[in-house]
Amino acid sequence: MERLENPLASMRTIPAVYKILNLPSVIELVSKFGHSVVSAAVRETQDELRKNLLDSSTTEKPSFTEKAFVQKVHGRVLELVQKSIKPVLNLTGTILHTNMGRSFLPKEAIEAITEVALNSSNIELDLTRGSRGHRDAHVEKDICDLIGCEAVSVVNNNAAAVMLVLNSLARRKEVLISRGELIEIGGSFRLPDIMKSAGCSLREVGTTNRTYLKDFQSEVSPKTGMIFKAYTSNYTISGFTKEVNEKKLVQLSSEVNVPFVVDLGSGSLIELKKNGVQIEATPSKKILAGVDLITFSGDKLIGGPQCGIIAGRKDLIKRINANPMKRAMRCDKVSIAALSAVLKLYRNPGKAIHCIPTLRLIFRPKDEIRSLAKSTLPILKSYFNDHIEIKVTDCDSQVGSGSLPGKILPSAGIRMRVKRNASRKLTLTQLASIFRSLPMPIIGRVHDDALIFDCRLLEDENILIKQLEFLPEILRKNVS
Ligand SMILES: *Cc1c(COP(=O)(O)O)cnc(C)c1O
Repeated sequence: MERLENPLASMRTIPAVYKILNLPSVIELVSKFGHSVVSAAVRETQDELRKNLLDSSTTEKPSFTEKAFVQKVHGRVLELVQKSIKPVLNLTGTILHTNMGRSFLPKEAIEAITEVALNSSNIELDLTRGSRGHRDAHVEKDICDLIGCEAVSVVNNNAAAVMLVLNSLARRKEVLISRGELIEIGGSFRLPDIMKSAGCSLREVGTTNRTYLKDFQSEVSPKTGMIFKAYTSNYTISGFTKEVNEKKLVQLSSEVNVPFVVDLGSGSLIELKKNGVQIEATPSKKILAGVDLITFSGDKLIGGPQCGIIAGRKDLIKRINANPMKRAMRCDKVSIAALSAVLKLYRNPGKAIHCIPTLRLIFRPKDEIRSLAKSTLPILKSYFNDHIEIKVTDCDSQVGSGSLPGKILPSAGIRMRVKRNASRKLTLTQLASIFRSLPMPIIGRVHDDALIFDCRLLEDENILIKQLEFLPEILRKNVS
């Protein structure tokens, strides 16, 4: 590239937008993608070039050349017209990965989503009376029947559920919570901050590892608005610990007439046991134990869409629904339709375990995963030379998102290692990045100096095999 000493002089070599738009190669882009996106791309490319010219840290000052400029414009146009969010193949071994969208929905939910998305619906219409209905009514009865509660309120996610419960029932009051439960869950869910934003003041009870009933009793006052328990779903405190029996907190809260609320985070609607894995029906257990309200996510163990479910006493749910904040947190028709479809599947538990991908993947037997890894191994190997060691390996999956914390699910997958004596150096980081740059990015886990692809979430090997066909081109670009 030509080197110009004076950046202002080279700045003047960048033609005006209208001139660039009249170049034959750019006219071609306009006819294909339309005027507005191409001119936006031209402006952005100009800005970038100007910025580079003024950037004193780069010694090589690029000047305007038509070919390079138009190529950049083309690339930018493609970026602007392509959707940013797209499917990826999650082979990390974490089933409910928040960064990768947690649960995949069953086909019944997809059908329900499509129907309501393409049409008007009775989302807030009582068809019998012809009057205004309530959107939560579409899911309330199913949840009540499944977990034995009186009423339900549904919001956008569980963080919203917690916030709404606190704000509706304990605003300007004190919320008692055991010091051991002051949790932070990945992605900025910190209970102390949520409490503050909800307008409650936090009253920490006991010590981090040991909290007794008498600690709660001594903190109760007329200012108390709620007793709150949060499931420490992403860590455990072990050793010299003491947790207050929930039954005793139920009793205490009813004695002092404040609600006892439990944030479960993740909760299953039914009890499930298969292939050495057990999922408890925690929500129904809590309701049965007399907890006034519970909150849990729709896209964790339930395997549904993102939402937060508040379940429990009817009078409390009524107060929650009357809070204007509920209006700001309500679910859209798409989530309600998906949740409703998933709940209907739970009406037949024997079927649910096969139809709901999250459950199917949690209970997927290791043998099946291993044989899938075995059959894809030779195909993957054929794309690499012997500088990369590729083997079938045993590995451990986990449910993730604070569901079944500490539970390891024996799994299998493929392990790729760069051999020490490899002459053409392809680092592990590069290898991982190559798989991420496939049209459907493949996300593995780097562990022990190897790239591991846990095959638990790979149910159709053809999805992987099809992506591998793009490898040679990407490898050529990266290794040369
Ligand atoms: C996951 C979780 C949350 C947050 O739920 P979102 O659905 O991500 O908003 C809150 N509390 C607990 C205990 C959790 O596990």
